[in-house]
Amino acid sequence: MNIPHTDQQERNECYHWLSTIHDPEIPVLSIIDLGIVRKVELLSPRADQGIVSVTITATYTGCPAMDTIATLITMELLGKGYKKVEVVRAISPAWTTDWMSQAGKEKLKTYGIAPPDGRFQRPDDGISCPQCGSHNTRLLSEFGSTACKALLQCNDCAEPFDYFKCH
Ligand SMILES: [Zn+2]
Repeated sequence: MNIPHTDQQERNECYHWLSTIHDPEIPVLSIIDLGIVRKVELLSPRADQGIVSVTITATYTGCPAMDTIATLITMELLGKGYKKVEVVRAISPAWTTDWMSQAGKEKLKTYGIAPPDGRFQRPDDGISCPQCGSHNTRLLSEFGSTACKALLQCNDCAEPFDYFKCH
């Protein structure tokens, strides 16, 4: 049976491959989980000239991981048979934690990082501890292991943890 290979199928394959690329700063999340990948355009299918364009938006301006991510995307898609990969960086609209997938938020929590919670404008008291679930937590530092996270500590289980800040 000859199933025609459509552009949509090929784009879906690209999304699948991109979902195997992990954020260098938060290895538990793929760039798809994070919502960094905004668009995949086939300028010419693999069977033809093989040119693909991927639009990405940084989680915050000046995020040092973006160069690495652009390189990883290029390497991945070249490895799948494309001859040319363009990585376009879109600045606007700005990335927001709302773009992070629900699956991504669950993975963060399992990893021990409190996922962004829209109920809190600031990484302040009340963010639930990813270890024990207690809301009795306090802010230790506005900046955790990376600029996009804050460092908190749980008053109940005493575990320090990162919180992925909302923005
Ligand atoms: Zn706790």
